[in-house]
Parts: sequence; structure tokens; C-alpha cells
Amino acid sequence: MELTVISGKGGTGKTTIAMALSELAKDVVKADCDVDAPNLYLFYKGRDIKKEYFYGGKKAVIDKKFCTDCKECEKVCQFDAIKDGIVNPFKCEGCGACTLVCPQKAVRLKEEKTADVYITQTNKGIISRAQMEVGSEGSGKLITQLRSNARKFSDENILIIIDGSPGIGCPVISSITGSDAVLIVTEPTQSGLEDFVRVMELCRHFGVLTFACINKYDINDKMAGEIGGFCRENDVYVIGKIPYDDTVMKSINELKPIVHYEGSKANQAIRKMWDNIQEYINRINQ
Ligand code: SF4
Ligand code: SF4
Repeated sequence: MELTVISGKGGTGKTTIAMALSELAKDVVKADCDVDAPNLYLFYKGRDIKKEYFYGGKKAVIDKKFCTDCKECEKVCQFDAIKDGIVNPFKCEGCGACTLVCPQKAVRLKEEKTADVYITQTNKGIISRAQMEVGSEGSGKLITQLRSNARKFSDENILIIIDGSPGIGCPVISSITGSDAVLIVTEPTQSGLEDFVRVMELCRHFGVLTFACINKYDINDKMAGEIGGFCRENDVYVIGKIPYDDTVMKSINELKPIVHYEGSKANQAIRKMWDNIQEYINRINQ
């Protein structure tokens, strides 16, 4: 079973919640698919047991030996990526147009390493994760690779918890498609509701079972009520409501998952949410 935790934007507490849930699950494999801001592994003592290069795209390279400086490639490039015969790899989208127009066949596309992909063994199970190259962006293909790596270390009795990317771009789509359930973490603000609507529509489009969690619900009860109402109208179950709790920041600073702070209100609410999720998982497995 794969449970993906996502949010409309970063900073909503998605990773805190994904980590807390994976602490509460007995056997779990984690996949950190928030590749632009991976931080799950920082909370664990771990050892990388596998490392691979990930090639996420292609970039143009010019062989100066053959180039006659005719500038045809510069003219055709829609991304303004070539200047004075030099390709700017941060602008090149690998479309290949320059390779087609070059009369000297001096340009070719070269596979570009965009990330290192790791399997990390921690004292709390496996984490499948990636470290992006500077200037690279997370792609759908990379997320698919991370999920596939996580599956290699689990069987059908082991839960996979995916800390997904925020937003609604290609990496998020790759995080949720084929997941058994998605948990959207949101906050009770106007922009939180707007972001929530967009990700919920995305989940609906892909036909994934969707739950909602309102984090810090008590900072704005009215807005939390509006999100709850929206969920009811759209048949999305609010599976958890987490109160604001200073201990969450303390847990982040101390690099200790929130479930280890017994007296914390957030911990208690997340545990309750985990019970609700388990009930659903059991129903699905029946
Ligand atoms: S089109 Fe080819 S030959 Fe002309 S400037 Fe570009 S790389 Fe050089
Ligand atoms: S591959 Fe496309 S984006 Fe890259 S330099 Fe060539 S024309 Fe420009």
C-alpha cells in the first residue's frame, strides 16, 4: 500500500506529518519525493547502501572543431540558450532544434546527470531519496524512479509512505498516480484553501482516494470550517485536524519526529489521525 502525503505549497507541515505517520506505522519504507527540498533523511541516522546517477534530461553541446560560427543555432533556439557559440546549460531545454539546423553537425544532445539517487538504510527502515544537482529541477521521471526504488524494498504487507512534492506540477502528478491513497495537508488560510482546491482537483482527476488533514486548524477556526465544508461537498474525508503546537518547531530544531514528544498536542492529534488512516487501510485490505 502506498500513501502519498502532499500539499498545495511548501511549509504546510507535510514532511512533519509524513514523518510522524511513518514513525507510527510498524513496517514502513519511506520515499522522499520532495526532491527540491529533501529533508526526511536528516531526522535519521543512516547509511547509504546504494547510490546511482540519475539522468533526467538532455543538453546541447557544441563541438568547436566543426563550428563555423554561422549562428543558425542561436537564431533557432527559443530559449535563448546559445550565445556566441556557447550553450548555457541552465537555459537549454534539450529540445534538439539546434542539432537540426546546424549545417556542420557540430551540435549534439548529451544526457545530463540531474541527481544522485540513494537508498539509505536507517535505524527506522529504508528511505528512497535523491540529491539534486545545483540548478536542476525535480522531474516526473525522477519521482517515478524513487517510488520504484522504494517498492524494491517492500512487499505488499509493508506500507510505503511518500513525502510528495508541493504544488501541482509534474513531480506531484508522478507522486500521486498509482498511489493507493493521498493525504493532502492544508492550512486554514485563504491561500491554503485555494491551493487545496487545486491539488484536490488534481487527485480527483487521477481518481486517487483522497483524504484531507487541516494542520494548525485552530489558528483560524472560520477558515478551517470553510475547508471542512468544501471537503464535505466534494466527498473528501477530513481524516485529521492538528492544532497549532510550538513543539513542532522544537522537534524540527532538535531533528526528532514529533511523535516522540509525548505531551505535545500535535503528536496526540497525529496519532488519532493515524488510527483513522489505519481503519481505512484495513477496510481496503478486507
Ligand atoms: S549552427 Fe552549428 S556551425 Fe553554426 S554556430 Fe551553431 S554550432 Fe556552429
Ligand atoms: S537543445 Fe533546444 S534549448 Fe537547447 S540550445 Fe538547442 S535549441 Fe536551445
